[in-house]
Amino acid sequence: MEQLIAQLNQYNYHYYTLDNPIVSDKEYDRLYDELVALEQDSGIVLPDSPTQRVGGETLSGFEPHRHQARLWSLDKAQDMDSLEAWHQRVLRLINDYNSKNPDKQLPDPSFVVELKFDGLTLNLTYTDGQLVQASTRGNGVMGESILPQVKTIQSVPLTIPYKDGTIEVQGEGIMNLSVLQAYNETAAEPLKNARNAAAGALRNLNPQVTATRKLSAYFYNIGYAESKIFADHQEMLQFLRDNKFKVNPYAEYFSSMDELKAELLRIQERRASLDFLIDGAVVKLTDMRTREVLGYTDKFPRWAVAFKFEAEETSTILESVSWNV
Ligand code: NAD
Repeated sequence: MEQLIAQLNQYNYHYYTLDNPIVSDKEYDRLYDELVALEQDSGIVLPDSPTQRVGGETLSGFEPHRHQARLWSLDKAQDMDSLEAWHQRVLRLINDYNSKNPDKQLPDPSFVVELKFDGLTLNLTYTDGQLVQASTRGNGVMGESILPQVKTIQSVPLTIPYKDGTIEVQGEGIMNLSVLQAYNETAAEPLKNARNAAAGALRNLNPQVTATRKLSAYFYNIGYAESKIFADHQEMLQFLRDNKFKVNPYAEYFSSMDELKAELLRIQERRASLDFLIDGAVVKLTDMRTREVLGYTDKFPRWAVAFKFEAEETSTILESVSWNV
């Protein structure tokens, strides 16, 4: 376990802090799952285990920013069996609550499926309608202030119609694949992958460099709102659209888990035709009161799960072989 932790923490440093991973996501996920299995079997979780924390360290060149509301990682399901296990846990938690609170029953669960964009998490702060801060997720509590960099994303509104106090809007900064291709046609140093291109540009101290990458962003959550309450996910997404945030048109709603599972397979088939990277789909409960009751572990919400697709890239060691002919 100690060896795995040391290895994963080193990979995290390259991925989150330097935006320059040294192993594929597939390899990282394989080792991470091995650690999770060891922790479950032994009942021991060492204090510096990456299973207990969100993201990585912040870069020293940026001003630290404390989020109003914590940002989270996501629980993962690599296949339909572990998705079903998540579903059963959700049902159990809802039933437990309902049996103890007969006068405050939670509704039967309904789900939304969204794409899991592969870029850099963004947290935007608006106060009385003005964009006053933008930050990375960092360790979920403290992130890096990257307001000038985020302002280079043309679709991010600098002011919004909603002027009632402070809200935090979360989304993902991405580089479209067509933009990456066009960039690489003339770039002195071609960029390897759209995720690292977006994350590296947003965490570049020079916003002029960020601007050359022509980034985009999709927004999908309000983490904090001083004076606004949403009944469900649909209402929250509508609020984002009404305030001119770029929300991906794809969001499908389900009450049946079987139909939801069939949809996940369809997304997987459509993945290659998208103009941006996704590393899976996110399944979330839609009802906000149920989200509040189910709450969070140290690392992720119990009311959502990432259904991960097989990583597209994988790493190979090329060995030179000499032939004695
Ligand atoms: P995560 O996979 O737990 O997912 C949480 C993130 O998903 C959020 O921060 C958000 O930015 C993003 N997201 C995208 N679309 C979303 C949507 N519709 N709704 C909600 N959130 C959405 O994030 P994580 O913990 O930072 O990443 C873990 C993954 O990163 C690993 O599974 C691995 O694949 C990869 N990783 C790779 C390396 C490496 O060295 N290759 C190192 C560390 C992590």
